[in-house]
Amino acid sequence: MPFIPRRVVFEEAALNYNIGKQMWKQFSSNPKIEIEVIEDRKRIKGIKGNTITETHQEAKKTLVVGIRKTFKFQSCKPSAHYQLPLVTGCTGRCEYCYLNTQFGNNPYIRVYVNVDEILKQAEDYMAQRQPDVTIFEGAAVSDPVPVEPYTGSLARAIQFFAGHEHAQFRFVTKFTDVDTLLNIEHRQKTTIRFSINADHIIQTYEHATPGLKQRIQAANKVAQAEYPLGFIIGPVILFSGWEHQYRRMLEELKDVLKSRQIAFEVISHRFTTRAKNTINKIYPDNTLPMDEDDRKFKYGQFGYGKFLYPADEMQSINSFFTQNIRDMFPDSNINYII
Ligand code: SF4
Repeated sequence: MPFIPRRVVFEEAALNYNIGKQMWKQFSSNPKIEIEVIEDRKRIKGIKGNTITETHQEAKKTLVVGIRKTFKFQSCKPSAHYQLPLVTGCTGRCEYCYLNTQFGNNPYIRVYVNVDEILKQAEDYMAQRQPDVTIFEGAAVSDPVPVEPYTGSLARAIQFFAGHEHAQFRFVTKFTDVDTLLNIEHRQKTTIRFSINADHIIQTYEHATPGLKQRIQAANKVAQAEYPLGFIIGPVILFSGWEHQYRRMLEELKDVLKSRQIAFEVISHRFTTRAKNTINKIYPDNTLPMDEDDRKFKYGQFGYGKFLYPADEMQSINSFFTQNIRDMFPDSNINYII
């Protein structure tokens, strides 16, 4: 089911760009969608629910169509050199999501229509690093896939990077709207990764996202279109029966993807005090395992501490995924288990 926004807010200047015009045409003819035009970068007002949770949910159904004005790209270490800012925010409502802390009260999904200017800036960054390859990440602060059928901006970026020897592009998603990406000449310069989890975790914490089967089917389409493919398994959460469920998840993957080459990244659940406080405000009834006494505290590279699973549980996660991935996907790589 594609994402259908409840309201779309256009910044005035976005309507001068082709993508903005196309989106206006698509949405303004649908009487069920509220449309608003605002001055550029003006605050978005009027999104209210009875509780913080409701307000958050409402904001997640709001799509903002704007122009990217800042052309200084954020760095994206260690997995890439730069974030490629095509989209910010996400239509999903995963309780543990890092975007809860990042965007707090303003979790709208925002798309930028001046894609050619953004890509031109990417070209400048590449030129500075040549002959080294520059890696751009398209999903550092978003899941860009649910809005792709409206913007076509990932498709544009994939085509662009296919023509640049000294660049690579990558993004990660939980969503399945990939059909418009399948017939593009990508020259294997773009890696598409899917974020997956055990069924119990998806059902309990990953609201408004597709199920495991649908994600695997979308991944299979991408693999058949010969894109390099990866899976992020995470956040790995330990619950009663976790080994059984994560094994089943890997078996489902194997049944569909057979002996394809896959790059795996495995990320165990972790949280910061700030994230815990924000999550508890937005999802007051959440059951996420966030008791500090059960965790090991570690200072992070950005100066704030994280609560990780303790060493013995990390060891169980590590052995479980190393063994099962090696057994079931002997031709694949495990990039890291953290
Ligand atoms: Fe966050 Fe990803 Fe879930 Fe979107 S799909 S809410 S980006 S964790």
